[in-house]
Amino acid sequence: MNQDWRGPLIRRLLLLIGACLLVGLITGEYAWALVIGLAGYLGWHLKQLLRLHTWLRTREDNQPPPEGYGLWGEVFDSIYHLQRRDQKARARLQAVIDRVQESTAALKDAVIMLDRDGNLEWWNLAAEKLLGLKTLQDGGQPIINLVRDPRFIEYFERSNYLEPLELPSPINARRRLQFHITQYGNREHLMLVRDITRLHQLEQMRKDFVANVSHELRTPLTVIAGYLETLLDNVDEVNPRWLRALQQMQQQGGRMQNLLNDLLLLAKLEATDYPSDNLPVAVDLLLLSIKNDAQALSAERGHRISLEADPHLKLKGSEAELRSAFSNLVFNAVKYTPNEGHISIRWWADEHGAHLAVEDSGLGIEAKHLPRLTERFYRVDSSRASNTGGTGLGLAIVKHVLLRHRARLDIDSTLGKGSTFTCHFPGTQLVRRS
Ligand code: ADP
Repeated sequence: MNQDWRGPLIRRLLLLIGACLLVGLITGEYAWALVIGLAGYLGWHLKQLLRLHTWLRTREDNQPPPEGYGLWGEVFDSIYHLQRRDQKARARLQAVIDRVQESTAALKDAVIMLDRDGNLEWWNLAAEKLLGLKTLQDGGQPIINLVRDPRFIEYFERSNYLEPLELPSPINARRRLQFHITQYGNREHLMLVRDITRLHQLEQMRKDFVANVSHELRTPLTVIAGYLETLLDNVDEVNPRWLRALQQMQQQGGRMQNLLNDLLLLAKLEATDYPSDNLPVAVDLLLLSIKNDAQALSAERGHRISLEADPHLKLKGSEAELRSAFSNLVFNAVKYTPNEGHISIRWWADEHGAHLAVEDSGLGIEAKHLPRLTERFYRVDSSRASNTGGTGLGLAIVKHVLLRHRARLDIDSTLGKGSTFTCHFPGTQLVRRS
């Protein structure tokens, strides 16, 4: 097949020229003999070329190549061989595509491919069931025309797909879907959609259970705390040996009440995605009142608390929720900073949005704890917390409130030197007062 044809070709040509010259010698017409011989040779090549062309044009019928001679025979065979190899490769690729399509069609999760502008390119069967996509009408349509929930549009356009998004299904509000987008190639999107209705129901049951238990425990606890207070008020009539026990019972009762209040607040925060209020809150005044409360909490521990707040910046949201988040951060700074330590509260805006930073010169937190600090009941060390009477829910509340205000929490801390908790709010949540 890979024979070198140059030698034989030259030999044949020389032979032809030799034969022509011989005929020329016999006839005495060298020129004519050469012209006729070479023209015949050229004609033969043209004929082979024509056969090749005819065969290539009819090659869809998978016809074998025509019988060829010499180099042309080899050209025919090589092209035929290449064609067969190409056909086999194509068949193999088609089989792979068919298998991928069959397996994605069998998936319970929806798989949707979108181009860089978010137009539908391809989707599997589950996408039709979960999102109601229709093969004939919807190809090439923008996905935001088909999933019209404003939260999806905001999520899709923000192009930050680290966290998945949960939404009710656009065709059945009782089903809950989780959307996960990955960008690949030339900024195309691969969107996976899972039906998480069952998981959502279980989560809802857990939340309802915690909320109900907290609510039910509140009344008996209030009664017990009330009687304890009465007993302590009339301590002279009580056996003095009981005094310390009663005081401890009252202290622990107070802790339980704080815990229940925090659990109920968290349950309330989890019940909806956005705060009920969306009014401009004067953060400077809010921080001033929190600073006064923190000074009272510090009392004789003598912390120096400073406040720098831009009075022209208001924040859209719920004042009650923001108070609870900001006071958790400031009270934590008081709780975890030794006597006479310094705490600074700053509220300012720049081109990235508005920021609230609470900085303390306290105990600090080891880096390994930072990622888990906002989990419920996560404590850096239990002895620290039992002295301060914390519930372990403070930072979980902060995280939830911030999420509801489209903000995020940054924690920066060095053990033994102090910590800075910074809340970053996007510019869209701001109102500037002239
Ligand atoms: P707690 O009610 O126990 O204070 P939080 O959720 O508010 O619970 O805080 C979680 C843990 O984070 C605390 O137990 C504490 O160890 C640590 N922590 C929070 N704020 C600070 C701070 N300013 N300095 C040092 N440690 C802190």
